[in-house]
Amino acid sequence: MTKQARARLSSKRPSAIVFLAVALTFACWAPRAEYDIVFLGGSVFDGSGAAAVLADVGVRDGLIAAVGDLGEASALESIDATGLTIAPGFIDAHSHAELDEDYGRDARAFLAQGITTVALGLDGDGRWDVARQLDAWASDGIGVNGLLFVGHNAIRREVMNMDDRAPTSEELARMKAMVRSAMEEGAFGLSTGLFYTPGNYATTEEVIELAKVAAEWERAIYDTHDRDLGATYQGIGYDASIAEGIRIGEESGLRVTFSHFNPQGATNYGRAEVGARMIEDARARGVEVWAAQHPYTATQSNLRAYALPRWATAGGQDAIMRRFAHPDTLAILRVQMLESLAMRGGPEKIMIVDEDPRLNGRTVAALAAEWGMTVPDALQTVFTDSGNATVMNLDLYDIENTRYLAGMPWMMTCTDGRTPAEGQVTVHPRVYGAFARKMRLFALDENVISVPFAIRSFTGLAADFFGLSDRGYIRPGMRADLAILDLDTYRDMATMEAPHQYAEGAVHVLVNGAFAIRDRAFLGTMAGEPIRASWEYSGDR
Ligand SMILES: [Zn+2]
Repeated sequence: MTKQARARLSSKRPSAIVFLAVALTFACWAPRAEYDIVFLGGSVFDGSGAAAVLADVGVRDGLIAAVGDLGEASALESIDATGLTIAPGFIDAHSHAELDEDYGRDARAFLAQGITTVALGLDGDGRWDVARQLDAWASDGIGVNGLLFVGHNAIRREVMNMDDRAPTSEELARMKAMVRSAMEEGAFGLSTGLFYTPGNYATTEEVIELAKVAAEWERAIYDTHDRDLGATYQGIGYDASIAEGIRIGEESGLRVTFSHFNPQGATNYGRAEVGARMIEDARARGVEVWAAQHPYTATQSNLRAYALPRWATAGGQDAIMRRFAHPDTLAILRVQMLESLAMRGGPEKIMIVDEDPRLNGRTVAALAAEWGMTVPDALQTVFTDSGNATVMNLDLYDIENTRYLAGMPWMMTCTDGRTPAEGQVTVHPRVYGAFARKMRLFALDENVISVPFAIRSFTGLAADFFGLSDRGYIRPGMRADLAILDLDTYRDMATMEAPHQYAEGAVHVLVNGAFAIRDRAFLGTMAGEPIRASWEYSGDR
């Protein structure tokens, strides 16, 4: 180093220190911007069902900090929301978002609709190791907020396998203990799938016994996939099934929600009022009953549940195979499988959406034709080779029923959608479009419900039901879960023929104050949080 250079350096040192000191002083003294983000001039729907107000929304530290005129406020970022709708992030009241899987963790199909919170563990499938699942979400990251139910079917399968019988008192005690530990770990309540095995082997009384355990937590929830939605072979019928769900709530003390509430099958077209009236009557006598809907006429389930009579599924795959191998039993099965499908509109209405590429995208009728078989032979082949298959039932719901139910004040909204796995070419479009489709069809195009009413069914109504005291509304202090939409272009794009298309029109979506979608582009942000139920324990443990 030359003498001059050394001199230069030493002469610079003090100035560098002075600069640093000035910078630190400035950093300490400069007032922090009032907001991290301000959205200016949007139409704000607060989630209560009230009409929109023109306002700015300020976000700070992951919370909604202010709603009003923030034009003069300081903000790290100001974003023009002129012409855009600002709504609370949507709550998917009955979801199958695959947040535990790498392919589903970012929840894109849901975010693109404006959904920021999903309720999972439904149809009786929820695991009882709730804390472990919630902890995994926290450590692995999730794109939306998630909450969990503990599932009766999962518990029953663990304790009693696929047995078609009542539990022993020891088995019932074990199941109760599993419900209790799941509730202690933050489950929102008990879910059942009384339509599915092994849930359909349970009596109403068995479910009430388990529901009473969950009901030791104040305001906890019973979420039911009904035993018979109307197209169940040798079932109890739609009306009796709704009555059963209400009775379980009434006798256990749990609040009730009916998953994807809608009567199924051609014999129930035009009968939505019957179920709705049963819910209204229950509410009038103080039973808290709610429901959720999606706007599609197709359902999704599995082929065993749709094609096999209840008696034939007991005991699981090996037992089913023994029945197919017995000539007399097979003869009965061949008849009853066709009768089961007939209640659902026939084999041409059962569309296979399983990830198995040999089956995907074909109706049962088309598959039988492709294989040169009768329908019963084709079914037997699928049950033998694959055990089961994921299927849709086309045109099972009456859109008139769905329209009517959309207007009920207790009707929340759900996708009931499962994130597609790789290879699932044909899938139910509801996972990509349920919320956008309900808004587009029932509110914007047909005016069956108003836009604020639709948004309430997506947000505040569900937040109230799930007891999410800091979500579902645009108010200061709430979590900044925001769906900022261009309502002119907000629509579902997924169709039966081309399902893998995200909904359009969500301009910005924020989860806990972080952009998940910005300027209509996914950022892959994992800003979702596991949500534990905060029900108060009121039992006598
Ligand atoms: Zn479901």
